[in-house]
Amino acid sequence: MNAGILYVVATPIGNLGDLSARALEVLRSCDIVACEDTRVTGALLRKFGIEKEMFVYENSRERAAAPILLEKIKSGKTVALVSDAGTPCISDPGFRIVRACRAEKIQVTPIPGPCAFASALSASGLPSDSFLFVGFLPPKSAARRNFFGSHKDFPHTIIFYESPYRIEKFMADALELFGPERTVCVAKEISKMHERFFAGRLLDVSNELMKSSTKGEFVVMIAPDSFHYSE
Ligand code: SAM
Repeated sequence: MNAGILYVVATPIGNLGDLSARALEVLRSCDIVACEDTRVTGALLRKFGIEKEMFVYENSRERAAAPILLEKIKSGKTVALVSDAGTPCISDPGFRIVRACRAEKIQVTPIPGPCAFASALSASGLPSDSFLFVGFLPPKSAARRNFFGSHKDFPHTIIFYESPYRIEKFMADALELFGPERTVCVAKEISKMHERFFAGRLLDVSNELMKSSTKGEFVVMIAPDSFHYSE
């Protein structure tokens, strides 16, 4: 029997209109949708009138779930891997099943679409030819400060994901270690009703951010030391 295919399908990070026609086609035609949370993905599928077998593939059981999913694909099933939002494997589960498929020479096809850091960077006006995407830093302040300290002179834009619970502490540590004059851009709630971009001096952005609600999802981008918005 021929093996199936693993599709890595990007889904919206806020606005459902961002689900691509190709993503819909794959979600409609696949045998199984592998997802983090059946409630989240179930709601997405229902919105588009799709009823599909779902397989839970989430962070805490990725190690155990990957071989099971691999067997399903090897037996000929076509699987669409999604995460709760955005592109699977980008600070989301997926790495293990993709690696296992590659090891077995099984076809893996991405269905490109929303990704928070790419969207944030594209609208930031910060240097974007070359950048470092860090994702989430460890939650402890010491690890964060250590990272900031050792990347103070990094010559490219650095991109982080941060949760609403830690954004205040993140900004406070960044202010201390990168200094008030560093140029930054913080993207909040991209593609959602309360989307906002805060851009400029770290001190001003930090103050503005703290004045607004810190509820929501954030991408923080820190420019290299030499960069300023006005040439
Ligand atoms: N796989 C996703 C992607 O492709 O971007 C990222 C998933 S990660 C678990 C969630 C983090 O991504 C959030 O904490 C936030 O930092 C960022 N994020 C997701 N959606 C966002 C949005 N609409 N606006 C800003 N940041 C977002």
